[in-house]
Amino acid sequence: MSGFFDTKIEFLKGVGPQRAALINKELNIFTFGELLQHYPFRYEDRTKFFKIRELHSDMESVQVIAKIRKVELVGMGNKKRLVAQVADETGEMEMTWFKGIAWVQKNITPSAAYVFLGKPAQFGRKWSIAHPEMEPLTTANETRNNFQPIYSTTEKLKARFLDSRGISKIMEQLVQVCFPHIQETMSNEILEQYQLIGKKEAIRQIHFPTKPDLLQRARKRLKFEEFFYLQLRLLMLKVARVEKYRGQILNNTELLTEFYTNHIPFELTNAQKRVIRESYGDLKSGKQMNRLIQGDVGSGKTMVAFICALIAISSGAQACLMAPTEILATQHYSGLKEFADMMGLKIDLLTGSTKKAARRIIHEELLSGELKILIGTHALLEDIVQFQNLALAIVDEQHRFGVAQRAKLWAKNEQFIPHVLVMTATPIPRTLAMTLYGDLDVSVIDEMPAGRKPIQTVHRYDKDRLKVFGFINEEVKKGRQVYIVYPLIEESEKMDLKNVMDGYESISRAFPNYPISIVNGSMKADAKEYEMQRFVKGETKIMVATTVIEVGVNVPNASVMIIENAERFGLSQLHQLRGRVGRGAEQSYCILMSKYELSKDSRVRLETMVRTNDGFEIADVDLRLRGPGDLMGTQQSGITDLLIADLSKDAAILTLARDAAQQLLANDAELTQPENLPMLRQIKQQKKTAVNWSRIS
Ligand code: ADP
Ligand code: MG
Repeated sequence: MSGFFDTKIEFLKGVGPQRAALINKELNIFTFGELLQHYPFRYEDRTKFFKIRELHSDMESVQVIAKIRKVELVGMGNKKRLVAQVADETGEMEMTWFKGIAWVQKNITPSAAYVFLGKPAQFGRKWSIAHPEMEPLTTANETRNNFQPIYSTTEKLKARFLDSRGISKIMEQLVQVCFPHIQETMSNEILEQYQLIGKKEAIRQIHFPTKPDLLQRARKRLKFEEFFYLQLRLLMLKVARVEKYRGQILNNTELLTEFYTNHIPFELTNAQKRVIRESYGDLKSGKQMNRLIQGDVGSGKTMVAFICALIAISSGAQACLMAPTEILATQHYSGLKEFADMMGLKIDLLTGSTKKAARRIIHEELLSGELKILIGTHALLEDIVQFQNLALAIVDEQHRFGVAQRAKLWAKNEQFIPHVLVMTATPIPRTLAMTLYGDLDVSVIDEMPAGRKPIQTVHRYDKDRLKVFGFINEEVKKGRQVYIVYPLIEESEKMDLKNVMDGYESISRAFPNYPISIVNGSMKADAKEYEMQRFVKGETKIMVATTVIEVGVNVPNASVMIIENAERFGLSQLHQLRGRVGRGAEQSYCILMSKYELSKDSRVRLETMVRTNDGFEIADVDLRLRGPGDLMGTQQSGITDLLIADLSKDAAILTLARDAAQQLLANDAELTQPENLPMLRQIKQQKKTAVNWSRIS
């Protein structure tokens, strides 16, 4: 919205410079356009009235019609208050005011009837409402048919009579003066196809609803619009990127065929095959690939990445794989070295602890092109690491890397930006993925390798500990290995350490004959690595650890995951941890230990874990419990700036809006057709004001 809508709110009748300054400061609202988008966050049903006898303490806010019996000042000093005794035909109650007493006294008429609105509270046997909103009873308000909008406001604003009602009054004025200037932002075609009401009507209804179904349609229309433009921007970015960057054509599959016929140790799952096909489609296309592979823990993402690397190498180029931690990079390296060796391909590992001499060799061999695959941590990003021809950059567990870091990867090839394959084991609900990664292509590995037995998960209380110890004993006797994980306690590293050290001691006492590893955050990297390796090799039977083992670690012989204080973990973290077991052929178990008393959310989390192994289902529950704002990566993305739409609740509308945006661009990528003018105008307008959307990808 431009021009008129940029008018400063101080010029609105009833606002003026002083209140405008306060609104600027308190609500961060400066212009007509911004104020118009200060939508109510809920509505009060003003069609419903309660009798005094019907009041109960769960009620948030009620309307009562009552007559004033008596008004008196009671108490002294700061306890001084104005109390109105009121009554209807079912009983009596009190209305009280601690502030603004003089004004109320002056304006209240004894023995008149009023409509009171507020949250009822009970003192002794008597109901009372503090600082009710009140209006004299008229036939108009008794029979009215509307929903009162409730606007968010602040204490300071309320003190200047800008409570929800005060804002509503200003809105009346605002909507009136803005109305002739409001322009439609959607084409008729889209309005019709998705049965959306017009923008003007939507704005009027959202602030001053006349009927519940019209309010619903107004909300739907505005949510749709918000999602639509979010998606349209993301898709346009993608189109722009595809046009701007050509990709190196990687279409030689010789090595892939050789690996596939002679070396691969297992049959690929259909999902793996599909994702490889999707990626190959990009690699050979001449466009630069930017693909996200989502796959639950253990779904075999690494093999997909390796096969893509083979395609790059066959085509005369190099590949690199970047992991977030040294442990993970090392594990990827040892896993992939086995395959690379079979194929006679040179592979190496570069991390912070790679020695100087070894580094120099790596740098040389990268430049000469002899080294085909480089695995590593952030160390890969250093400027000195230069490739002869890097064509494929694979990033594991991507949420741990910032966007800036990924941009550095892009700079590793001057002629062609490398194809980028991002792998994540954090399943993201589809709706969120569409938005967070809206300009990436997404592939999903939604199938586990055959023969995996689903992990059995149980929830046990601390009092069952002896039984749990008995179970550990049995499993270790069968030759299995066990993880016992303690939460990181953010407030206090010391507490953390104490927690895990106490655990270690009691485990050592319970199992004096089993070698035990311990890994915690305060250990040096090489000490951690040493302990990890002992467990990986099977020398130790039990691994006691804080959450440092969370990502990626692969010990197929480990079949039991015990999570202590499980109520303290988030759902996605629990799911990640559980994914450390169930990687071999044996039946695996996850035991969630908790105290007896649990919050409602904790209980839902633990129940969800017990009920399902499906990462996507778990991600959905997580999104519902926490809302999108807390989920990984959403803060920086700007999607929490949504005004009315809600990613966790409005998935259906999002899907429609995404379809609409896609369809629009497919038909008119430049938005040059006359009927799409409203959309072009809106996009241009948003470009002027919008956050930098490119930071999303
Ligand atoms: P993630 O997707 O969690 O990174 P990995 O790539 O580490 O999973 O794979 C987990 C384990 O499953 C590894 O030991 C890997 O060798 C094995 N694996 C991968 N694909 C298959 C398959 N198609 N059949 C059997 N095992 C597989
Ligand atoms: Mg992995």
